[in-house]
Amino acid sequence: MFELPEFVTLARQFNDTLTGKRIAKGSLDPSPGKFVWFNRTPREFASLTQGKVVGKSSARGKWLITDVIPGYVLVLGECGGRVVFHPPKAPMPKKIHLKITFDDGSFLTATTQMWGAMELYVKGQEQEREYIRDMRPTPTDPEFTFEYFSNLIADVVQGPKRSVKGLLTQDQLIPGLGNAIAQDIMFKARLHPRHPVEDLDKAQKRRLYRSITGTVKEVVRQGGRYDERDLFDRPGGYVRLMDKNAVGRPCPDCGTKVQKIQYLGGACYFCSSCQT
Ligand SMILES: [Zn+2]
Repeated sequence: MFELPEFVTLARQFNDTLTGKRIAKGSLDPSPGKFVWFNRTPREFASLTQGKVVGKSSARGKWLITDVIPGYVLVLGECGGRVVFHPPKAPMPKKIHLKITFDDGSFLTATTQMWGAMELYVKGQEQEREYIRDMRPTPTDPEFTFEYFSNLIADVVQGPKRSVKGLLTQDQLIPGLGNAIAQDIMFKARLHPRHPVEDLDKAQKRRLYRSITGTVKEVVRQGGRYDERDLFDRPGGYVRLMDKNAVGRPCPDCGTKVQKIQYLGGACYFCSSCQT
């Protein structure tokens, strides 16, 4: 599934490649299954997009928001899979949930893996959507300072007990992070996934903060993770340190064998000697 760096990468590529293109035809899969969230019928989507022009795109958390001018925005969120630009006459992927053909014959397709939103709103109304409304600052926002992060932790410890993995991946406390990038963030911060948030000392908080912002920045710089694809169907350049390929191999820092546990709805990969 895409996480913040993949959405930032897609937004940049949308801006470079799609901005200014006029929509000839927009279509939605008439039978997408219940895990693809549409807010329009295929007929509405086609009539509302026809003749409109693609404007600017931006990413917030796990959401990509694209102006469809005049008056609308296309929202792709909480998804994974493929969001791909195709030149004119390129072969059509087998299974697609959304297709937008431009008047120069090029087209955009989106196919989500598992679940995801593909929605069209009157501009501004997307801000009222669940998960976008009241979204906290994300690690690429200027408001995501160490002071903000310390205050977030102070709030979190007032609630139910949380671990570092819970802080990183649950309840959109830090929007845009997911189970994949969280593994490397915890490794670089030298924190065990189960480490209680309430026990973090000042130095650990600072390390965790630096690891969150530094890792996100690095994955963005490399165009996303190697196991996800960009707008041109190319894999990202960021190879994770801690993922399924690392299990049983020596930790890059100390040589201890990397372990795997199932914890909080997903696998964790970590070094039991570096991460405490
Ligand atoms: Zn280690």
